[in-house]
Amino acid sequence: MLRTKYYYNPATCSYERVQRSISTFIIRSSLYIFFSVVLAVAMVRYYRGRFVSSRELELLQDNERLKAYYHMVQKKIEGSVALLTRLQQQDDELYRLLLNTTPLSPAERNAGMGGVNTYAHLGKDTLIAQTLSKAEQLYSKLKVQQQSYKQLRELAKHKMAKLASTPTFPPVSKKHLKRISAPFGMRTHPIHHIRKMHEGVDFSAPIHTPIYAAADGHVKWVKNDKKGYGNHLLIEHGNGFQTHYAHMHTIIVQKSNHIIRGQQIGTVGNSGDSTAPHLHYEVYSNRHRVDPIQYFVGELTAAEYEAVRKQSTHRTQALCSNF
Ligand SMILES: [Zn+2]
Repeated sequence: MLRTKYYYNPATCSYERVQRSISTFIIRSSLYIFFSVVLAVAMVRYYRGRFVSSRELELLQDNERLKAYYHMVQKKIEGSVALLTRLQQQDDELYRLLLNTTPLSPAERNAGMGGVNTYAHLGKDTLIAQTLSKAEQLYSKLKVQQQSYKQLRELAKHKMAKLASTPTFPPVSKKHLKRISAPFGMRTHPIHHIRKMHEGVDFSAPIHTPIYAAADGHVKWVKNDKKGYGNHLLIEHGNGFQTHYAHMHTIIVQKSNHIIRGQQIGTVGNSGDSTAPHLHYEVYSNRHRVDPIQYFVGELTAAEYEAVRKQSTHRTQALCSNF
């Protein structure tokens, strides 16, 4: 409540009441309100600067926890990158070597990385931007590796098909494999006694000795001739390979039969122009007859293969006249 003020008037020699104008009252009231507001704002700011509210404290603790989680995620990403790097090394140094193909170049490995920073709007070098950027790089590397495995899978499939069609399985047991009576190459004809090319290998074996298919395929034809190759058949393996088995005693497969590698197809005989029981065995590679011995390398031990190879270099008498 405003106090009433008086002043001395010499003209009337008395104290008279001071009269206040409305404008003076408004100005004074406004100044009072203004300074009160300024003081209040200053006090709030001071309080906020010195003390943290429970809500702010909670948010600060959440923020610290999130930072810790982001660091954990980054560690996980770094661990995944290290694991992926080892897989890439195996891919380049082992699988691609085995499949006879070239390793991926650094440019191919880093495809899809770099370029526009997708997370620039999150602030440069912020924890979230760094984490997302590392996750993005890992994803790009994984996509490249996925493509690489896809390519290797196709190459392996092709190689397996080629291996399945390669005549690596010996047509007679190992015991008879070493009894090569006539190898592939120039030999003396048993009847005409002239030097001619023997385009197969003769494995000497008793009648009824099992004969096995050298690779997967199907029987192209079966023939029972009185002369020449006698009872003989040809198996088509694919990838340019065919195998021919002659002078057989019995044939237990028929034309068009599907054959699997190592399956028995008949027995050794003495049919056709043969001077003693044996198997005359030929391998065709892209329509040319080649030495069958070279394909046994994958099926025999080093010592076994060496023994067969040595035997195949001996100059012996052919048992058949199919050359
Ligand atoms: Zn022969």
